[in-house]
Amino acid sequence: MMVLQLRHCNGVSQYPLSPLFQMKSGSAQRNISLRAEAAPSRTQRIMEGLSVSSEVGGAGGAYSYNALKRLDKIWSSICSAQTVQQEPQKVVSSFPGVFSQSFLAEKEVDTFDVVVCGGTLGIFIATALSAKGFRVGIVEKNMLKGREQEWNISRKELMELVEVGVLDLEDIDQATARAFNPNRCGFENKGEVWVEDILNLGVSPAKLIELMKRRLISLGGVILEGYSVSSIGIYEDAAILQLAEGKILSSRLIIDAMGNFSPVVKQIRSGRKPDGVCLVVGSCASGFKNNSTSDVIYSSSSARKVGDAEVQYFWEAFPAGSGSLDRTTYMFTYVNPQPSSPKLEELLEDYWDLMPKYQGVSFDDLKIQRVIYGFFPTYRDSLVMLVAYSHQSHLGDLAA
Ligand SMILES: Cc1cc2nc3c(=O)[nH]c(=O)nc-3n(C[C@H](O)[C@H](O)[C@H](O)COP(=O)(O)OP(=O)(O)OC[C@H]3O[C@@H](n4cnc5c(N)ncnc54)[C@H](O)[C@@H]3O)c2cc1C
Repeated sequence: MMVLQLRHCNGVSQYPLSPLFQMKSGSAQRNISLRAEAAPSRTQRIMEGLSVSSEVGGAGGAYSYNALKRLDKIWSSICSAQTVQQEPQKVVSSFPGVFSQSFLAEKEVDTFDVVVCGGTLGIFIATALSAKGFRVGIVEKNMLKGREQEWNISRKELMELVEVGVLDLEDIDQATARAFNPNRCGFENKGEVWVEDILNLGVSPAKLIELMKRRLISLGGVILEGYSVSSIGIYEDAAILQLAEGKILSSRLIIDAMGNFSPVVKQIRSGRKPDGVCLVVGSCASGFKNNSTSDVIYSSSSARKVGDAEVQYFWEAFPAGSGSLDRTTYMFTYVNPQPSSPKLEELLEDYWDLMPKYQGVSFDDLKIQRVIYGFFPTYRDSLVMLVAYSHQSHLGDLAA
């Protein structure tokens, strides 16, 4: 078999696509494939050159190019013209009467005061409630692990967790990868304001969540990892959780902490398109010589065209714990989801040009360690006003 491939030329590359035609020659059959596909983007080339072994569940926990493409597909479907993307699956249902008299009662596997669905931020409230003496379980569809990519956070916020008995001071020291001051806020032609102690710590979610896991278990909490919420039945006396893997749990309260793609929130919001979305892309890279301060928010330009859309970019930057020259930089923007809205990959294409200018470095002097991305859907009407079920509460990103 002979395979002909077009070399990179006028935006057509050697990357394989389906065969365009076949040709027979003599008795031997030869397949001649002309393959046409756009050249890989700069983002694809950068991302495919990085190792992404430490991906986890939760917002910003995936670093691979394939995961970026999957997220962009979800984002594109949100941007489609329809107000309701698709009728959401019914996850929560109410039943009259008490659970103990229902046919499911004999299949019940375990009983809790509180079950928290989704473990990233969920583990903090689970631990707080366990410390108060409640029997708490967590259901997490992946392994319950924090991402490698640090969160920037204020020490004051962590101290609030110390006050409620979730963390102690030693935990903060162990999980803090880097501290930095002062912190800048700046807008084009409006000057800069420098503050102290605002988002001034880089905390390792991997370390923090590992510490929380140990604490929760020592308090008698139960963590069901690799289990996915399938449906929730609300009875007069209890909420009943059915897991995709077949287990049944009963609880006095269920806390939904399943993030932006929570099936419960999808149902409550009737699959409605978000009113606004914050798109974020960024990286953690090495090679920043000036690396002691941070940007809480910084915008150096007004709106610009990306494809058919107009966006204004905002920046955030802070030193990373992996090395003295390592720095995290995020570029984010706010859009109304519509077909012309830019994809995350398009934003990343801009980011590779703009980030070095913003940081006063040359791209060639940087070594990219990790590429990060995500989006946050938001709605005008508060989830609190919409929640129509008893025995349920909501926490984390999904409440936006
Ligand atoms: C690129 C990026 C950078 C960020 N940087 C920062 C930062 O520097 N500082 C900061 O404070 N914040 C940052 N954030 C935000 C932060 O990551 C989120 O606010 C945080 O992860 C929200 O946690 P959550 O638990 O609400 O949701 P998620 O992190 O989305 O976690 C939801 C959890 O629910 C689980 N789950 C989902 N469906 C099911 C199901 N059916 N059954 C069981 N479990 C389920 C998921 O596996 C996941 O573990 C960033 C976000 C992104 C995308």
